[in-house]
Amino acid sequence: MKAVKSYKFWFCTGSQDLYGDECLKKVAKHSQIIVEELNKSGILPFEVVWKPTLITNELIRKTFNEANMDEDCAGVITWMHTFSPAKSWILGLQEYRKPLLHLHTQFNEEIPYDTIDMDFMNENQAAHGDREYGYIVSRMGIERKVVMGHWSDKNVQERIASWMRTAIGVIESSHVRVMRVADNMRNVAVTEGDKVEAQLKFGWEVDTYPVNEIAEAVGAVSESDTNALVDEYYDKYEILLEGRDPAEFRRHVAVQAQIELGFERFLEEKNYQAIVTHFGDLGALKQLPGLAIQRLEEKGYGFGAEGDWKVAAMVRIMKLMTSGMKDAKGTSMLEDYTYNLVKGKEGILQAHMLEICPSIAEGPISIKCQPLSMGDREDPARLVFTSKEGPGIATSLVDLGTRFRLIINEVDCKKVEKPMPKLPVATNFWEPRPNLYTGAEAWILAGGAHHTAFSYDLTSEQMADWADAMGIESVIIGADTTIRNFKNELKWNAAVYR
Ligand code: MN
Repeated sequence: MKAVKSYKFWFCTGSQDLYGDECLKKVAKHSQIIVEELNKSGILPFEVVWKPTLITNELIRKTFNEANMDEDCAGVITWMHTFSPAKSWILGLQEYRKPLLHLHTQFNEEIPYDTIDMDFMNENQAAHGDREYGYIVSRMGIERKVVMGHWSDKNVQERIASWMRTAIGVIESSHVRVMRVADNMRNVAVTEGDKVEAQLKFGWEVDTYPVNEIAEAVGAVSESDTNALVDEYYDKYEILLEGRDPAEFRRHVAVQAQIELGFERFLEEKNYQAIVTHFGDLGALKQLPGLAIQRLEEKGYGFGAEGDWKVAAMVRIMKLMTSGMKDAKGTSMLEDYTYNLVKGKEGILQAHMLEICPSIAEGPISIKCQPLSMGDREDPARLVFTSKEGPGIATSLVDLGTRFRLIINEVDCKKVEKPMPKLPVATNFWEPRPNLYTGAEAWILAGGAHHTAFSYDLTSEQMADWADAMGIESVIIGADTTIRNFKNELKWNAAVYR
């Protein structure tokens, strides 16, 4: 997918002038070396930018406000090399509005046993300087990530990298605009939600357009553009005619190509990055968008079915968070469909009537045309595939009436035992952690939906940190989950998030 812009993260080192200029020179030198080495590591997805040492209220306030104003700055990394009296940080922190990482590190890895003296200790005292700073950030109730360890440690660098992706999710959230070409499905509860509150909390704009307005944009796509895209499909995917007439099949595929181009142009023109459709509100569209939506998702658009705008926004954000990731395995909307309850082979078959993103595919991707009972239109063309194995996370953002809750389930994706030749849709299959029974019970207790935003490339920690930054409740269902503790957590959270 299209990468997000080249965000940068500022590296701000705290100190004071108590130990003289000589000491401050070393502080600056040390933090410059750390920044250089972090950038050279090849582990961080974004560049770190060194900033002059912060020692006064005025400079700290100015620097944080500059970070706010700089559109390329996605967050600030702070580290107190020496003791930095934390009252100096209050005004700057009060006015700062972007993601904050507290890197609790020190320049030297080992205590220099033979040479250590008081000067060395005064110069290298993050162990207490970072505690003073941590106190004020905690007292101010500011959300931040704390990462502890030596800056050269691969694990520390990976944790910084992981937080950077969370920060992108936070920064980009307020730029997500969801186009609804239909309301949510009649009578369905979990896909509903408070769009005003969503804008307050997440910055999302969720707007409706009459379906025929977008159908007109589809109708305006020329035959030659459509045919060129169909040719691309035929080059890229396997064609499963299954006895259908080749010319008729191609006409059906062309409908989706025209929808893809029409939707994409409409979304781009009006600056939307996510879309919802609804099989019950198709207007002049000839088919339920299937292949077309799958391709748009692969390009980075968020998608939610049956008007599910919360899933559409979450898919978009999670795609942004994984943007540019080497060896990314994919992110998609999915839906819990049906269980395998055979002992030792338990899991949930994931699919949708059409719209699964091919970024999660493994093996061949084929085009099929099959009747669809939903939608009352001609047989839609769709991409069919199975998905990769390995760990992933399924998320569901629900509106509990007084607040949002993000439910995150760690899952293990597997191959199904046998092919499913009669199933004409893309699928995934996973076993929730800690196991199907506890995982599904906890999911239901938390009010998790049947639609999910799924990714192989993000962790429950990243998504929970994102929720914290958004000021909403999150719960993780993972290897350690027990129903008793989980129920208690939900009760305690109800007291906290009121
Ligand atoms: Mn659905």
